Amino acid sequence: MNPPGMATADDTGRDDPPPSVLPGAPFLQRSAAGLTLDGLALDALAREFGTPLYVYSQRAMLAALAAYRQALAGREHLVCYACKANSNLAVLQTFARAGCGFDIVSAGELARVRSAGAAASQIVFSGVGKTAAEMRIALQAGVRCFNVESVGELERLSQVAVALGRTAPVSLRVNPDVDARTHPYISTGLKDNKFGIAHAQALAAYRRAAALPGLRVEGIDCHIGSQITQVEPYLDAIDRLLDLVEAVEAAGVPIHHLDLGGGLGITYRDETPPDAGTLVRRMLARIDARGHGRRPLLLEPGRSLVGNAGVLLTEVQYLKPGADGDAKNFCIVDAAMNDLARPAMYGAWMAIEACVPRAAPAQRWDIVGPVCESGDWIGRDRELALQPGDMLAVLSAGAYGMAMSSNYNSRPRAAEVLIVDGVPRLVRARETVPELFAGETLLP
Ligand SMILES: *Cc1c(COP(=O)(O)O)cnc(C)c1O
Repeated sequence: MNPPGMATADDTGRDDPPPSVLPGAPFLQRSAAGLTLDGLALDALAREFGTPLYVYSQRAMLAALAAYRQALAGREHLVCYACKANSNLAVLQTFARAGCGFDIVSAGELARVRSAGAAASQIVFSGVGKTAAEMRIALQAGVRCFNVESVGELERLSQVAVALGRTAPVSLRVNPDVDARTHPYISTGLKDNKFGIAHAQALAAYRRAAALPGLRVEGIDCHIGSQITQVEPYLDAIDRLLDLVEAVEAAGVPIHHLDLGGGLGITYRDETPPDAGTLVRRMLARIDARGHGRRPLLLEPGRSLVGNAGVLLTEVQYLKPGADGDAKNFCIVDAAMNDLARPAMYGAWMAIEACVPRAAPAQRWDIVGPVCESGDWIGRDRELALQPGDMLAVLSAGAYGMAMSSNYNSRPRAAEVLIVDGVPRLVRARETVPELFAGETLLP
């Protein structure tokens, strides 16, 4: 029996489930105990594990993956989780056990996904600056494909492969020159952009790839940006890509798979991105309409698999009300730009909620961290009723949160908890101060 007040929809069969706090985050709910993730009270997790603390729901991650997979059922496909979004080993293991592939951008990520149980044949290697050493490691591991971003990289990869007596499977990352209509820092598909091979140069690059002794052409690839909230940029990119596939094949170079990258956005505030199923179905319809429906399909989602599966918990340290009526009120918390860079780096808006709301009038606060930079803010002009010691949750923090954290101001990095079948598992211990300078030496 549940104690009073703990009745759930399952017990009664009648109660509505508690409301979700954010579209696309079905496991984040508001209940009598305050905010919960996958049924666990966030305030209690913050007090048990300490703050700043990242908390993720495994169930939410697997549900996000399932949405892609269901829409791809019946097609030869591989969903490759772009692990730079959140590369905690237990998160990677979650996806590896679910049979998911991985998109990596460094030898470090290769080692991580392998440690988490990923099969090399399920790994694609992206990135604009692969070193020869990284190529060697990835070739020896036997990754499924190198997503190559320049002709120089083609030449180098062929040399490295020949020296190892191997053949490198390649796909060219083509820049389709479409506008993903997202933030300039995370838009990657326009021609004035460091990523990919220009559409106009791609045919020549494919001819070169086919002629090089160490390479085998496998596919074509694009990734037009991140936090994309519309379907049309993807459809434009597909058209541009398929035009090229037809031209390259007419020139005698067969192309097998299509890799359409990642980039699907999530709701941080009031964005209304398509759900993954809708996006995939519309992409498939376009590919089929163009007569390319039998090609194996790869996708590289990052943010949309993990972003709304996680929160960052932080404790209110001090309140500094403004000196007069117009001055800002500052709420200083124990998380900072080193823990969560998105607001400072992109001006990103992230929802901030009290884990247990107070029944008191709200005031307007700037939520800031302790780092010595005026850019160190988590949220501005937030209406909240706060007291020191309160726990706050920064929502939608599962992607590009911990993964972009640093030790600026000699701040140890946060701990991470993954909720697995209703049990909170500490999957990364809080960093200690001695670890911060363990690799440094004093002069003699
Ligand atoms: C970052 C990245 C992704 C994932 O992007 P999201 O916006 O997180 O989905 C996919 N492919 C490549 C090549 C990337 O660099």
